[in-house]
Amino acid sequence: LDPTNQKYSHEENDVERKLRPLSFDDFAGQDQVLENLKVFVQAANQRDEALDHTLFHGPPGLGKTTLANILANELGVGIKITSGPVLDKPGDLAGLLTNLEERDVLFIDEIHRLSPVVEEYLYSAMEDFKIDIMIESGPNARTVQINLNPFTLVGATTRSGLLTAPMRARFGIQSRLQYYTTELLSQIIERSAYILGMPITLEAAIEIAGRSRGTPRIANALLRRVRDFAQIKGNGKIDVEISKFALRALNVDAHGLDEMDNKILTTIIDKFKGGPVGISTLATAVSDNAETIEEVYEPFLIQEGFLVRTPRGREVTEKAYKHLNKTNPNLQTG
Ligand code: ADP
Repeated sequence: LDPTNQKYSHEENDVERKLRPLSFDDFAGQDQVLENLKVFVQAANQRDEALDHTLFHGPPGLGKTTLANILANELGVGIKITSGPVLDKPGDLAGLLTNLEERDVLFIDEIHRLSPVVEEYLYSAMEDFKIDIMIESGPNARTVQINLNPFTLVGATTRSGLLTAPMRARFGIQSRLQYYTTELLSQIIERSAYILGMPITLEAAIEIAGRSRGTPRIANALLRRVRDFAQIKGNGKIDVEISKFALRALNVDAHGLDEMDNKILTTIIDKFKGGPVGISTLATAVSDNAETIEEVYEPFLIQEGFLVRTPRGREVTEKAYKHLNKTNPNLQTG
């Protein structure tokens, strides 16, 4: 156990908490999703009922956990937070469920990773607000049914394709989160800089935003690192020069692509002549699974025009060749 390290990560968590939007008004972007949620929350509040179970899906870092917290705040209720892989046995879940107050939010992150028994157990809790629990043991063992307080399950998943159909059907509200534009990310960065008490120029905010892979979590993380450079190597102010200097030192790609993004593109170019290549063949070649590529990496690469989906598989674009400084052999012959 390294105490310095622990302290450091503790500080990071505090910062992260400070930057997390707490209300609908603090939350930038995802307009359509937010418009709808506001209506559902207002209606539930008026009827004094629990909000319908809500599922958020979309790539990591786009605000699913943040929205779960915002929902609880806007409903004026408490929130309990857990995740799919942590809930090992139905008993773990029973403990959480029986402790929920009326209309509370139970947030389950990575809900696609619930074990089948736990998932099954959740069904009746979601549908009828009832669960069976086993009391006593040995020959006296029996199950009793207990009533739960009506609650809202908020599930988050990066891999909606892996969610079972019965699970998905139990969510009355389902929202897909989208990548953020550079403009929205620069607003988020300006807000975060303001909270951190760090002066930043608009140009610098845009520079950092453009390299954040459409993702608020990455934008905030880059801002914190640029802040360190501004403090130590600059004059304390975040301007575009120190931002560029820091981003170069951090090896951040000009488009904000991460290591896996670049690996996917390089592999398609080097091993499959630029494609088309089928998703499962590609997955094997980059040693990841097909669903993760489809749901976490590919959407951004497609949105940014590095990759296209064709009936015969995935193909890189000219932009990908340029980005990786490679020549497109198909262009020379064709
Ligand atoms: P997810 O659960 O989808 O992985 P989070 O909700 O944990 O993502 O968001 C990651 C970080 O990004 C949070 O700490 C939050 O501060 C920030 N964030 C996410 N969405 C927004 C937003 N729309 N506006 C401002 N900050 C955001």
